[in-house]
Amino acid sequence: MLQQVNGHSSGSDAQGGGSLRKDLQKFLSGEAPLHQLDDLTKVNPVTLETVLRCLQARYAADTFYTNAGCTLVALNPFKPIPQLYSTALMREYHAAPQPQKLKPHIFTVGEQTYRNVKSLIEPVNQSIIVSGESGAGKTWTSRCLMKFYAVVAASPTSWESHKIAERIEQRILNSNPVMEAFGNACTLRNNNSSRFGKFIQLQLNRAQQMTGAAVQTYLLEKTRVACQASSERNFHIFYQVLAGLLHLGNIRFADSEDEAQPCQLMGDAKCSIRTSASLLQLPEDPLLETLQIRTIRAGRQQQVFRKPCSRAECDTRRDCLAKLVYARLFDWLVSVINSSICADPDSWTTFIGLLDVYGFESFPNNSLEQLCINYANEKLQQHFVAHYLKAQQEEYTVEGLEWSFVNYQDNQTCLDLIEGSPISICSLINEECRLNRPSSATQLQTRIERALAGNPCLGHNKLSQEPSFIVVHYAGPVQYHTAGLVEKNKDPVPPELNRLLQQSWDPLLKVLFPTDPEEQPSGQSRAPVLTVVSKFKASLEQLLQVLHSTTPHYIRCIKPNSQGQAHIFLQEQVLSQLEACGLVETIHISAAGFPIRISHQNFVERYELLRRLRARTSSGPHSPSPDERHSEGSPCTEAATLQPLLQDILHTLPALSQAAATLG
Ligand code: ADP
Ligand code: MG
Repeated sequence: MLQQVNGHSSGSDAQGGGSLRKDLQKFLSGEAPLHQLDDLTKVNPVTLETVLRCLQARYAADTFYTNAGCTLVALNPFKPIPQLYSTALMREYHAAPQPQKLKPHIFTVGEQTYRNVKSLIEPVNQSIIVSGESGAGKTWTSRCLMKFYAVVAASPTSWESHKIAERIEQRILNSNPVMEAFGNACTLRNNNSSRFGKFIQLQLNRAQQMTGAAVQTYLLEKTRVACQASSERNFHIFYQVLAGLLHLGNIRFADSEDEAQPCQLMGDAKCSIRTSASLLQLPEDPLLETLQIRTIRAGRQQQVFRKPCSRAECDTRRDCLAKLVYARLFDWLVSVINSSICADPDSWTTFIGLLDVYGFESFPNNSLEQLCINYANEKLQQHFVAHYLKAQQEEYTVEGLEWSFVNYQDNQTCLDLIEGSPISICSLINEECRLNRPSSATQLQTRIERALAGNPCLGHNKLSQEPSFIVVHYAGPVQYHTAGLVEKNKDPVPPELNRLLQQSWDPLLKVLFPTDPEEQPSGQSRAPVLTVVSKFKASLEQLLQVLHSTTPHYIRCIKPNSQGQAHIFLQEQVLSQLEACGLVETIHISAAGFPIRISHQNFVERYELLRRLRARTSSGPHSPSPDERHSEGSPCTEAATLQPLLQDILHTLPALSQAAATLG
């Protein structure tokens, strides 16, 4: 190494001396060129800026994967790189004695995960949590991992096992465009944004061969069926198949002058009712009547009262009908996919879960959907922090390092604000739904601010024209508008709508809305009505339970630019994603622990020179040791000519020189 340095200096001028100094400084501090640093916790010092520079340097060098402690950062290359995902490379990672010594790659994560399932006497399920903005490469990553498992999780000798793994993989991959057509939409941020979360369970038998898979979806943003933010679009499928519910949206009502009379249809809405009825395979009159008139059952005899709805209520019922049909259709689709890929319960023993989740969201106007998404991210971040700290602590114990655990402030305060008991944002919104009292957006804001005033994660935007509150998430503050929150949370489905759809003679709708044999004659559902937040909380808890029962692995996908173009790295955009995916937090946690990890051997190799120099500078003129005399081009002999420079450097690196001194 130093010979190279000397090579630079031959015939040196002032500039040469400068670059020599830099190179030598780098050499002595053990710094590799930025693009060669394959772990972000090794950049020196660990700051957001150096992390960003390192990622940028690697991106420029066509290196897209970088470790960040126990996380893998995946930059989207936005260009095909077939050799990076070849079957040969998969086999190389699979066969490597220590895959973590190879270049960082999703195959390292895939292989580590696979070995964890395999190596233990008591097999432990594994999960890979792939996160990032839409367009960052989550689906790509999940797809590559499935391909990887189709190669490695098939018996090398059994052609049949290989075919099963390949067939499962093919079916999962084929189901993706269908799920994306129904579950993805064009948003302000991304023209193919997933509006649902997905957990794919790859099922393995005792011989660790893939025998099947199951898909679980979370929180489809069904409000999008009825309304979208400006410049955003409905789910893709609507632009492909116009039959799916669009006519329902064209049904418009006029205000009724007499409260006792139902609202009448506007303009050519009659035509839309007719088309909708024919597509839903329902009689026209009951469809219209269900939208116009509410039936209330009251009294001991459960007498039926009919009350005409206001125009706004009619609109809500129409939207509700569309959302209801769409949500059931989506769930049905997932169940059909599952029935074609799921293995027989007896044929698998362990699983590897792939979680493809929507990332943290902050738009100019955030509502219940963003609250749920960010709440999920907050939970996953807590899970990550707990796991990361645990892993770090265990590593120190194994290394025999004396380590008093630094208490890291996790995001519990924010979670208390959102979901804590007895009072939280969720409980207050639920309470409004339960009390069913008329309450304005301003009143809700006031209630939240009063009840949760002591929580430091609650903020208020004084400049905001609209009633709102701010939650300071780990990834940044988000302002939520309170208008419509309670209504969205109620997500009421009038029982008449369910009964109406049960009358359809369309074969698919019959499956989506089966008649409940246990239904009360009164038609009143016995089950308590759950709010959106309660349902979401329950499914999130279920997911976390599954994740807690696994060893998690994390892949954070980063989109270098929003144009989707290769070779463009926009610092601002990457920075905001690093913050949003909590990488900054990861770095902070790393900083709380030992910031640099170097094996003993590497440390000796790297800093031995310092020890020798220190010994030399303190013991006067140098007389070469027998070692030095015999080794050709000995670093110390050559370094002696650079003594003043080295002294300067040694002066600036007292900690290192001390550490080096202790090596002898
Ligand atoms: P997400 O699922 O996060 O929304 P996708 O996985 O669909 O994002 O990726 C968005 C686009 O980026 C896709 O068109 C895909 O072709 C491209 N892409 C993502 N990852 C890679 C990669 N590793 N190599 C090449 N192209 C990629
Ligand atoms: Mg996707």
